[in-house]
Formats: sequence, structure tokens, C-alpha cells
Amino acid sequence: MPQTQIILDDTTWEELLELTHGAAAVCFQCGVCTATCPWGLVREETLSVRSYMRAAQLGLHKNGNEDLWLCTTCAQCEAYCPRGVEIADVFRGLRYLAWKRNQPHHGLSTLLWSVYWNNNPWEQPPSQRANWAKDLAAPQFDPEKHEILYYVGCTASYDSRAQKVARALVKIFQAAGVSFGILGEDEPCCGEEVLSVGHKLYFREMAEKATKTLRERGVTQLVTTDPHSYDAFKNHYNDAIQPLHYTQYLAHLIDQGRLTPRSPIPNSQSLITFHDPCYLSRHNAEIEAPRKVLSAIPGVELVEMPNIADDTLCCGGGGGRMWLETEAGERFSDLRVEEALSTGARILATACPYCIACLEDSVKAKGIEDLAVMDVAEIVAKNIVESALHER
Ligand code: SF4
Ligand code: SF4
Repeated sequence: MPQTQIILDDTTWEELLELTHGAAAVCFQCGVCTATCPWGLVREETLSVRSYMRAAQLGLHKNGNEDLWLCTTCAQCEAYCPRGVEIADVFRGLRYLAWKRNQPHHGLSTLLWSVYWNNNPWEQPPSQRANWAKDLAAPQFDPEKHEILYYVGCTASYDSRAQKVARALVKIFQAAGVSFGILGEDEPCCGEEVLSVGHKLYFREMAEKATKTLRERGVTQLVTTDPHSYDAFKNHYNDAIQPLHYTQYLAHLIDQGRLTPRSPIPNSQSLITFHDPCYLSRHNAEIEAPRKVLSAIPGVELVEMPNIADDTLCCGGGGGRMWLETEAGERFSDLRVEEALSTGARILATACPYCIACLEDSVKAKGIEDLAVMDVAEIVAKNIVESALHER
């Protein structure tokens, strides 16, 4: 068993207070957070969230405790906390202290170095950031010509599965006549993963740098692939740049009559269930847009899982967990896939690259053959292609 070293000093207390804006101060130690944290669904010994809040109140820093890095920042506990404690931010503050003491989780240092050297957390060359769009007519953003910047983000730029979502979105924008541009190799990393693993200082630096680039390029309205980037721009950047998650933008296009999925979905795929990404639903109260987009496809019948909207079950990929190993049997996404199957749906739709990766891994690991994990953008793009074929 690793030894836990407890340090108590006034400097730590003051630092934590400043880092978390005193978020833990109002905690009255009821333990609801520990009881509602999804780690309790997959582990006998759950994450003791309450004790971390106590540590933050007292200025205790528990060095060497790996549980600190379990929190996915899903905010499930915050939805139930009777005192409104910003629990995920307290975890980020405690993690920052671990970084400062040069004691981060051993699996996360490469993430930070990769962001520093490569402008992405995936250890991929910056020069290949726009490779996913090589054969697509996705122009460089020009504020004089384009109504939106499509902010692709690191995961959809480099991960081969998530690239399919970016490509689907380009097809949708083109079909709807949206004038859009991308920044290609010049697209800055938004830093959401740096924030989620708690390096608040470096995140602030990244946000300032990214803001400068976006301002210089004349960006006022951007549309993101990823709810994590959307959340970073919306809630953690000090700037007037207006972000939208792509499901929100597609819902606007449908309202304006610019996007009309026409081809009826085949009967065998008509039952769809939607997994709310935590960073869209719980962190940003966006529940309707993805459902509106899916429901616009003729024949789609949405069936809901037990845990939806602001009670969604986290996929397990946030808070830096995409870069850490989660043992078999402890993956939240395994439970989510079972919930999806219980609805009878043949498509488990979502709208986040991390959710896609976690849910798809669980479907594969469980050997499930009759449930496809798809992004909302992929479902809409497929419909548009089919509609075009029918209209010929
Ligand atoms: S639910 Fe809120 S008040 Fe209760 S222990 Fe957790 S943080 Fe403290
Ligand atoms: S944010 Fe999510 S993972 Fe973190 S402590 Fe709260 S419920 Fe648990």
C-alpha cells in the first residue's frame, strides 16, 4: 500500500483558498457527494469525495494519494450537493498543488509535455493537425467571408475515430450552405485537458495565447466539435468570443430551415438513445439541442436511458482519465452501454469524442454486436448523403 503523507501548513491553506475561490468553505460534510459519485457504482471502496472537501477546508495536502486523480470532473456530485460546492474545481485545485510539488500522477506528465511541444495532448506533430481535412473543401478561416470558425479541437484533429465526426460536420456545413473556415495547423489547443488535470496556471497561459490567436484572426463566433472545448471557451476564457457546441449550431440551422434531413431512417435503426455528455448537459445545461437534431430525422424514435440530462452517467473519460488506465470492471461506460441496451435502441448516439471512445471500447469489450455507437453529426451526415442520392 502506498504511504500517504499528510502536510498541513498555512501556505497550503491560503493557496487552496485562492485556487478554488474558497469553494470548499461551505461544505458541511454531509457525504452526499461520496454517495452520488459514480465510482461507488464500480468500486467496493469508492472515492471519498467528502474527505477531499475536508482536506481542502483544512489546507491538507495528501501527497501520494492516487485517488486524487480518479475524479472525472463529471459534476454528478455537484448536482446533489446541498451546499452548492464546486467540487470538481476543488479537485482541480488539489491537483494543482500536486503539480506544484512535482507529484502529479505519473501517467499525466507526458500529456503536459505534449501540449507544450506539440500544441496537442496526443503526442502528434503540429504539422499534421489538418491532415483529416486534406481531401475536403475546408478553407482557411477568413472573417470577411465566413460566418463561423469551425474549431475542430485536438481530439477530432488527430484521433482517427473522432476525425470521422469532424468530416461529418464539414459535410453538414457544406450541405446547409454554411460559410465556414478552419485554422488548420494554426488552430491553438484550447487547454481543456490541462485544466481538467488541474494545471490551472499553465491553462491560464494557454487561454491567453489562444485568445490572442483567435482575436488576431478576427474570430467572433466559433463552433466546436467537443463539449470540453465548448466549456473551456464558454466558462474559463475571459473573452467575448462566442462559442457554440455543434449540436446547438445544427439546431439553429434546423430552426432557420437551412438544414433539413429528408431521408427516412431505416426501420432497423429508428430506435436511438442519446447519451448526454457531462460537459454538455450537466456543466452547460444543454439537453435539448442534440435531441432536437436527432428528432429532425424522419422516422427517428428517441428512447431514453434511466440516467439522462443533468443526471447523466459519466462515460469516465473526463478529468484527464482519457490518459490514464481504468481497470476492467471499473469503467462507467460498461454500465452506460448496459443502460443503452435495456432501451432496445440499436444506436447509442452521443456528441463528444471522449464519450465515443469510452462507449465504443465498452461495446467492443463486451462483444455487443447489435448496438452501434455514433456521433449525432455522423447520423445527420449519413442522412444528408442518403437524401442527396434519393433526390438524384
Ligand atoms: S455534498 Fe457538498 S456539503 Fe456534502 S460533503 Fe459533499 S461537498 Fe460537502
Ligand atoms: S465530479 Fe464526478 S467523479 Fe468527481 S467527485 Fe464528483 S461525482 Fe465523483
